[in-house]
Amino acid sequence: AANRRFHPQDTIVEVKGRKIGEGNFTVIAGPCSVESEEQIICVAQEIKKSGAQFLRGGAFKPRTSPYAFQGLEADGLKLLLEAKKVTGLPIVTEIMSQTHIDLFADVDIIQVGARNMQNFQLLKELGHSDKPILLKRGLANTIEEFLMSAEYIMAGGNNNIILCERGIRTFETATRNTPDLTAIPLIKRYSHLPVIFDPSHATGIPWLVEPLSKAAIAIGADGLMIEVHNNPKEALCDGAQSLNFEQFDQVMETIKNRADVE
Ligand code: PEP
Ligand code: MN
Repeated sequence: AANRRFHPQDTIVEVKGRKIGEGNFTVIAGPCSVESEEQIICVAQEIKKSGAQFLRGGAFKPRTSPYAFQGLEADGLKLLLEAKKVTGLPIVTEIMSQTHIDLFADVDIIQVGARNMQNFQLLKELGHSDKPILLKRGLANTIEEFLMSAEYIMAGGNNNIILCERGIRTFETATRNTPDLTAIPLIKRYSHLPVIFDPSHATGIPWLVEPLSKAAIAIGADGLMIEVHNNPKEALCDGAQSLNFEQFDQVMETIKNRADVE
């Protein structure tokens, strides 16, 4: 169960020998979408140099418009595995359908995006796998609904869940979403699962990534997921919120002094 009452100890999700949760600070970084072999390998090498421990990149993209770039799909997964082979960084990528679970066999952490947080059939089937799951909070879901979605995965026997606060819809339009930082300590009190924060989708604004990352660390986040692109202006998805290599390196320098990132 996600509730701490039934599980007082913090859950530590172990991925490729690395422990996520309980005092270890984890940084996941990479582009919104995998775009080419050169792109994903280049981004992987750069974020590794700056100190990230996981490479992210979307292959199956949940785009608002059906005419927008939908991702490289299965080819994108192959390119992520290629980047993993070159850099040794484990990979995180989003799944959109339970029919793809076999295709994701070599993915280290399967992401369930905000738009699928209540895709209960997907959650149920992921519950029957033993893959670590990065579950993102829905665009307009309460903390209770978020934890119930984690419960769906755990009900099937999979306790390897990392929760990700990525901002919620409010009346405010100055930022893409409104970061709900309160959710971080609140969820850590109610639940034993590790909680990370995604300042890129939460704000939509590159220069806000650093201050919000500091804030998330100060209130106990177990890690961050940050969008980084080789050329944000030309990115096929979420370029406007992506950091370039220099900006990401700067954020990592700043947070290294605050969080326990080696
Ligand atoms: C993403 O991580 O690129 C993404 C689509 O995020 P979210 O599901 O939080 O919108
Ligand atoms: Mn994105």
